[in-house]
Amino acid sequence: MLPEKLLGRVEYMENLAGNNYLVRIGFDKKVEYIPGQYASLKVAADGTRRSYSIASLPDENVIDLLVDVTPMGVGSKYILGLKVGDSVEVLAFLGRFTIDPLLLFEARHILFLATGTGIAPFKPMIEDLLYRKHFTNEVRLVWGMRHPEELYWLKELDNINRDFDNFKHDIVISKPTEGWPGFAGHVDTVVNRLEQDWTKTLVYLCGAPNMITEMEKNLKEKGVREEHIFYEKYF
Ligand SMILES: Cc1cc2nc3c(=O)[nH]c(=O)nc-3n(C[C@H](O)[C@H](O)[C@H](O)COP(=O)(O)OP(=O)(O)OC[C@H]3O[C@@H](n4cnc5c(N)ncnc54)[C@H](O)[C@@H]3O)c2cc1C
Repeated sequence: MLPEKLLGRVEYMENLAGNNYLVRIGFDKKVEYIPGQYASLKVAADGTRRSYSIASLPDENVIDLLVDVTPMGVGSKYILGLKVGDSVEVLAFLGRFTIDPLLLFEARHILFLATGTGIAPFKPMIEDLLYRKHFTNEVRLVWGMRHPEELYWLKELDNINRDFDNFKHDIVISKPTEGWPGFAGHVDTVVNRLEQDWTKTLVYLCGAPNMITEMEKNLKEKGVREEHIFYEKYF
């Protein structure tokens, strides 16, 4: 479908943790997109835009966005200034960071690697795979964050774990506080421990460009086929 300009309204906003905000935008009709796509928001009167992955499943009247306002540029300030009821101009839906259903036939493992709000497109992609497409091979998410106090969606991820034996998720903290019980370091800390048939693994990477560049090299060395690596760089 061609992207179109949609006028939405802020329905809900929540500070999830740290500098991370959930923004729910409502429309007067159901919106269709493929999990993994993003929307481009007009964030200034001069037409400046910023892109945000859609963090919720399609076929609803609302979309959720997950925004880290740490950069504090024009997009971050716009998001922080939004209030429930405000109008929002959205160019949607964009991007090819989606899962090709044909690849699912040969995939033994699907690995999602995120840093920060790079987890945004993965939540609907994983929910779509498991709850809607009934994919039964392994789905694994590795999520890198700086500090434990910035984490969110932990209950949501645990719920998916409870519902599906074939879903696993690991969190890696690069600046852990004392007593952090989980993995410390970067996403490769977890990925380097995995033993699997890398030639039958699809990998989706999203978030910090340097993580993506480094992991792409690492994954190719492990045997992941180039055409099985997909990424969305947040720059
Ligand atoms: C396809 C796509 C999807 C995206 N999806 C999301 C999303 O779901 N959630 C989300 O939070 N962001 C997402 N981004 C990033 C987002 O669009 C903005 O680029 C980012 O939030 C910075 O916007 P800004 O206007 O606040 O800062 P800018 O005015 O663009 O930059 C201000 C300063 O911060 C630096 N900076 C820019 N981006 C980052 C960053 N990510 N981390 C640290 N410093 C930065 C810049 O170099 C600059 O010095 C996405 C980007 C792309 C391309």
